[in-house]
Amino acid sequence: MSQDLAAELHDLENHEGHDVTVILERATAAAVEADRIGDVVLGHRARLVQADMRRRVGDVDHAARVFLATHRWAERHECRPLLGRTHFHLALTYHYLGDQAASLEHALNAVDLLDADAPAGLRIIVLIRLANSLAEIGSYDQARERYRQAEQIAVDIGDMTRRLLALNNLAYTELEAGNAATALAAVERMYAAARTIGRDLLVVERDTVANIHISAGRYAEAEAILRDVYDAPNWYEAHDAADAALTLTIAQRHQDALDRAQASLDHCRSLCDEHQLNAVGVRVMAEQAELHAAGGDFQAAFEEYKRYHAASEQLRSTQQEAKARARQAIFETAEARRDAERYREQARRDPLTGLWNRRFVDENLPDALTDPPVTVSVIDIDHFKRINDTLSHDIGDRVLIAVAEILADEQDRQADDGFVARLGGEEFLLVLPGLSPDQAAEALETIRLRIATHPWHPVTGDLPVTVSIGGLTTDDPDADQADLLAEADRRLYTAKRTGRNRVVLTADPD
Ligand code: GH3
Ligand code: MG
Ligand code: MG
Repeated sequence: MSQDLAAELHDLENHEGHDVTVILERATAAAVEADRIGDVVLGHRARLVQADMRRRVGDVDHAARVFLATHRWAERHECRPLLGRTHFHLALTYHYLGDQAASLEHALNAVDLLDADAPAGLRIIVLIRLANSLAEIGSYDQARERYRQAEQIAVDIGDMTRRLLALNNLAYTELEAGNAATALAAVERMYAAARTIGRDLLVVERDTVANIHISAGRYAEAEAILRDVYDAPNWYEAHDAADAALTLTIAQRHQDALDRAQASLDHCRSLCDEHQLNAVGVRVMAEQAELHAAGGDFQAAFEEYKRYHAASEQLRSTQQEAKARARQAIFETAEARRDAERYREQARRDPLTGLWNRRFVDENLPDALTDPPVTVSVIDIDHFKRINDTLSHDIGDRVLIAVAEILADEQDRQADDGFVARLGGEEFLLVLPGLSPDQAAEALETIRLRIATHPWHPVTGDLPVTVSIGGLTTDDPDADQADLLAEADRRLYTAKRTGRNRVVLTADPD
């Protein structure tokens, strides 16, 4: 059932931060189910969740490929709900790659495109992502407004967990911005919100509070808040707990409680070892060096500092390799898209003259006709067979190319829009929008004259090159393409019959 599947996806997209393996399994099953029932959009959404889980376990380049490919698909099919989601994932991807401008742009688009149908939880984290991006470029007021909106949605749907998420991010941003007072105000609201659902602050939330205290020199308060971070129930919390244990260490070191600080740091180190938290592990070394120095053991501090330096270099290069792979993935996807566009364009060009071909006309003329007035004219070279026969096919080709150039140039000069195509042989179609019948007559006459007076002698010797033109200007937004082309053809025939080298813009009286 497609409804069940939609509900499942709603759920998967809404469950930020749960067990990666479980979500990955469910998203994989959802993708299979979407394929089975043939729901392409749900299939894409399931694959986005899948890719997002793989991103979290470090497979960033794979994820980037999926995000971009899905994004292109959504663009081509103007699929708004999907675009909202791909913009969000790309915002995260570019944030990770350190391209804050691209990240911000995608976050803005994501917010614009995710409407009320999107899971509220998703809208909240998208707003928070946007707020964080704005804060990163120093637009704090704009950021605060988005945190507020995110919090409001959470309040509206009664989701206290995400309300706290919004507040926690706000508090952290205020701390980073150096606004201790507003950071504390956000913390007060975090406590209040937590009380309404009868729970303590999460480890990650308490870490924010402790950092705010540390920044204000209130080390004892910071320690008090983090004293019981030692139990980490699952992987996600393990990372938060390691961060918090490190913050605790710093709070204790500043109080010269070096034994307690060492115990906290040892705990942090064991969490890092057990859960492979390499980035925190490197910071543990730096803090260990600080602790040695605080205890007066400068030799040990120096040795530890050297280890820290080597490890942080190693970490940086690992991270840079991962980023390079992700950038390569983005580049290759963009390249594949350019290839596809090039191929698409090639298939719509006439290889000899470079003008558009009939396929392009069939795809684009109907659209051009919806915005009248539009002048449609068919242009045919007079006695072209003679040029081919008396000179050569090669010379014939050169004439075709030269006439095409003149037509393209005139189309450019006569109208902002429109196009010129080679319909086949020595017959061309010129579409000029926005001209009155009089202006159209003048434009076509200019073209006829320009071709007739072109210095052909170097190409065709004594043979003249002229064109006959049949055309009409329509005011009817519902005009039928086939009818218009047939009428232009009839007028072209009249031009041929009445002597060639002329423009006919009136219907035959018969
Ligand atoms: P009219 O004034 O009545 O249009 O006479 P015409 O000789 O121009 O018309 P016709 O349709 O009899 O001849 C068109 C010729 O164009 C026939 C064909 O061999 C030639 N032709 C078609 N495609 C090409 C091309 O790509 N290159 C060259 N050199 N000739 C082509
Ligand atoms: Mg001809
Ligand atoms: Mg012809």
